[in-house]
Amino acid sequence: MTRPSFIIGLDLGGTKISAGALSEDGKHAHGMRSVATQAELGAEGVVDRIIGTIEGVILDTINETGATRKDFIGIGVGAPGPLDREKGIVVVAPNLGWKDFPLQDRVKSRLGLPVTLDNDANCATVGEWWLGAARGGRNVVGMTIGTGIGGGIILNGELYHGASDVAGEIGHTTIDVNGRHCKCGNYGCLEAYASGPAIATRAREALVREDTASMLPAMVDGQLDRITAEVVYDAAKKGDGLANEIVRDTARYLGAGIATLLNVINPDVIVIAGGVTRAGETLFTPLRTEARRRAFGSAVKAARIVPGELPGTAGVVGAVATFKMRTQGSL
Ligand code: ZN
Repeated sequence: MTRPSFIIGLDLGGTKISAGALSEDGKHAHGMRSVATQAELGAEGVVDRIIGTIEGVILDTINETGATRKDFIGIGVGAPGPLDREKGIVVVAPNLGWKDFPLQDRVKSRLGLPVTLDNDANCATVGEWWLGAARGGRNVVGMTIGTGIGGGIILNGELYHGASDVAGEIGHTTIDVNGRHCKCGNYGCLEAYASGPAIATRAREALVREDTASMLPAMVDGQLDRITAEVVYDAAKKGDGLANEIVRDTARYLGAGIATLLNVINPDVIVIAGGVTRAGETLFTPLRTEARRRAFGSAVKAARIVPGELPGTAGVVGAVATFKMRTQGSL
């Protein structure tokens, strides 16, 4: 019997680093963990944390399986974009404060293993496609909704990067030409309405503007700046009118964005992952209704719109999958 080989996946975010090792066939996961990124340490300090995290994954995997260091084939890294995949460089990462940082080479030289780099939202999409809710799809769009809104596109069974690795930036499509200012510099981006922080902002604005009997202020002891999207979902589930209105509006914005994707890409699966899925059917039912109302019927009929099945690990699983696709040509 041949010994199993392992590929390490690492998902680098602005607040946490997640990593784990998967057997090459994706059937076994080992050493899964998350640590705080501590972006304030600077790029080299974060690299130290990345290396330490990967070393921990390797040791756990060896302990759990009896593998040796030779059984690790390589490391797939998912990082916030924009990236230069060929050169392995993170071009700009505002949440990390990085510019033109050669992440791929840094990790490779420290660990002596082949390393690939891809966009974190692309990785999450590929993770859901390989082992999660988008399994079996040929044309898949993934959306990850958290601090921002990231996206990934799989066309005819291949991850689509576009001409300069920008493809999939669904969060930065304009849904209101005169709309809210977005971190990217544009006005009216989907992300400026439906990301986690945007949901919290809209709730706070509504509380200040309207004199309603919402339970939201009491849930944060009157400190409105402590309202998060999660607090809004919790209140909505408890039947709070204002919170339900915020969730319904979020569903309308996302539904409009999804209708665009349905008409432009004509996917068979749209998988939505990230913190926003905690809202459950309160969000998904009106979201599907809105998408149905706006998109062509045949595009709506062809697509499943589903929540992700790999909460917290899609990025790690997908980083492994992108490593396989880059170095072996397929999954
Ligand atoms: Zn934007």
